[in-house]
Amino acid sequence: MSKLLIHVCCAHCAAYTVEHWRQQGYETAGFWYNPNIHPYMEHQSRLESMKSLAERTGLPLIVSPDYDIIEYFRRVAGHEAERCGECFDLRLAKTATTALENGYDAFTTTLLISPHQKHDLIKVVGERVAEAKGIEFLYADLRKRYSDSRHITKPMELYRQQYCGCVYSEWERYTQESK
Ligand code: SF4
Repeated sequence: MSKLLIHVCCAHCAAYTVEHWRQQGYETAGFWYNPNIHPYMEHQSRLESMKSLAERTGLPLIVSPDYDIIEYFRRVAGHEAERCGECFDLRLAKTATTALENGYDAFTTTLLISPHQKHDLIKVVGERVAEAKGIEFLYADLRKRYSDSRHITKPMELYRQQYCGCVYSEWERYTQESK
């Protein structure tokens, strides 16, 4: 059975995504690395939710000890409007490296289930990282299953975030709401 390392951005996007790849016959594990989630305690809340989901669903979870917030801001400073590409690259490159180091055959990301993300850009960045690192990136458009994923986690009463992750997205979320 092929081994797939799934970058997990949050429990709510992971729930169905993991199911999908399991149904495709992959032996799956999750990988947590999200230095784009600010502030740090928000990152910890989302990580705790993910750990809880992993326990309940029997998903092995690798948690990166790295929270590279300085690297994140160095990458996006001066071109904040295009920050998501750097954000995806930072996280997917680390996932690919971790997959290679731990004997996985391929990597993917739960970001592909979210209709709120720049879907086409995730695919471009994932494929570019795959070519650079020499490991396969598994792509699937799971956006139609986004609500299914939310339904899986609803009875678990896990912490649910209100914005994408970075401070820019938090600012945009609440200023748009007030308009
Ligand atoms: S909006 Fe989301 S994907 Fe884009 S840079 Fe911020 S955290 Fe990353």
